[in-house]
Amino acid sequence: MKILVINCGSSSLKYQLIDSDTEAVLAKGLCERIGIDGAITHQAGAGEKKTEQYAMPDHDAAVKRVIEKLTDSEVGAVKDLSEIEAVGHRVVHGGEKFASSVLIDDQVISAIEEVSDLAPLHNPANLIGIRACAKLMPSVPQVAVFDTAFHQTMPERAYIYGLPYEYYENYGVRRYGFHGTSHSYVSKRTAALLNKPIEDTKIVVCHLGNGSSICAVKGGKSVDTTMGLTPLAGVAMGTRSGDIDPAICEFLAQKENLDIAGVMNVLNKKSGMLGISGISSDFRDLDKGMAEGNDRCRIAMEVFAYQVAKYVGAYAAAMNGVDAIAFTAGVGENQGTIRRMVCEQLSFLGITLDEEANKQRGEELLISTPDSKVKVFIVPTNEELAIAQDTQALVK
Ligand code: AMP
Repeated sequence: MKILVINCGSSSLKYQLIDSDTEAVLAKGLCERIGIDGAITHQAGAGEKKTEQYAMPDHDAAVKRVIEKLTDSEVGAVKDLSEIEAVGHRVVHGGEKFASSVLIDDQVISAIEEVSDLAPLHNPANLIGIRACAKLMPSVPQVAVFDTAFHQTMPERAYIYGLPYEYYENYGVRRYGFHGTSHSYVSKRTAALLNKPIEDTKIVVCHLGNGSSICAVKGGKSVDTTMGLTPLAGVAMGTRSGDIDPAICEFLAQKENLDIAGVMNVLNKKSGMLGISGISSDFRDLDKGMAEGNDRCRIAMEVFAYQVAKYVGAYAAAMNGVDAIAFTAGVGENQGTIRRMVCEQLSFLGITLDEEANKQRGEELLISTPDSKVKVFIVPTNEELAIAQDTQALVK
């Protein structure tokens, strides 16, 4: 089944046309600067990747251009639009309304709108993409796949904050968690690599990228995760602070003469690895800096690895055991240094890393030694494929 996967931001739109039966990516691309001037980068199969300027005043124009590209006789991937059997949309926040992916209808659109105050930057943009596709492909079924849905299995004790309970009841203030599509996909792959039914597994997924989150997956279900009401919580990330003492907000506001928006800007954009190193949010730069003796890069890397390891330990406690740890996303899949530093901190669990295997990157691989009590894997994530698979399951 040919499925178009859409990830729509406020001024961008990423797309992949996936054959969900063969898992092949038939075409992919990115529309940028929508509503400003517009540019599209498109690639069909293993063909050449080309960027062209193209005026896109709104998302309807972007979706129209994507369809033109996909059906183009030279750079396209299908003869005509009728070959595209479904569209799967990434939607960031499903609140408590969505515990799984759903076929989109008017009620679903209203429900996504209702939870938009929980993700005011993302959900409205996702809805614009859904509406644009519905307008231009009215007979094609559309599916919403939520970043939060996988975590709806968390028990109350993991998602209730130590705040007045009315804030949960009135405003939905609770832990939701994100990267759910990735945690779900990677935990399933990890269970397959363990050669065990997922119901019998206890897996910690470390999704480490620009944004990072860790998830305890027991019997295939999320039982705890590091991100919270928003994706700012958990481990220190590329530019996000992760968990800090909440009183720091007031302290900083006074010292730096900032309002709430100013403090939030610091926590979201100037903190984490960038803030600590003062050099970069990119782990490649930090790794290089540390190797060259830059002390602030070393501190950033050590803080990150230590925080990740602490959560893995916490989640081993949450699940009363752990069979496997999976590293995924940009850093998890590619950065042997971080994986080694995390695993060294976890030797108490009986983990030993195979140093040779840990030099590999970007492929599914066991990187712990045969006698390691907990198995450690690299498992590349594939959120687009997971969205296509959910879409296929619902449309069929
Ligand atoms: P993501 O948000 O999952 O795309 O991850 C982005 C992060 O992954 C950046 O900090 C990169 O430094 C890191 N990353 C991506 N590719 C590599 C690589 N080949 N080697 C080391 N780090 C990488």
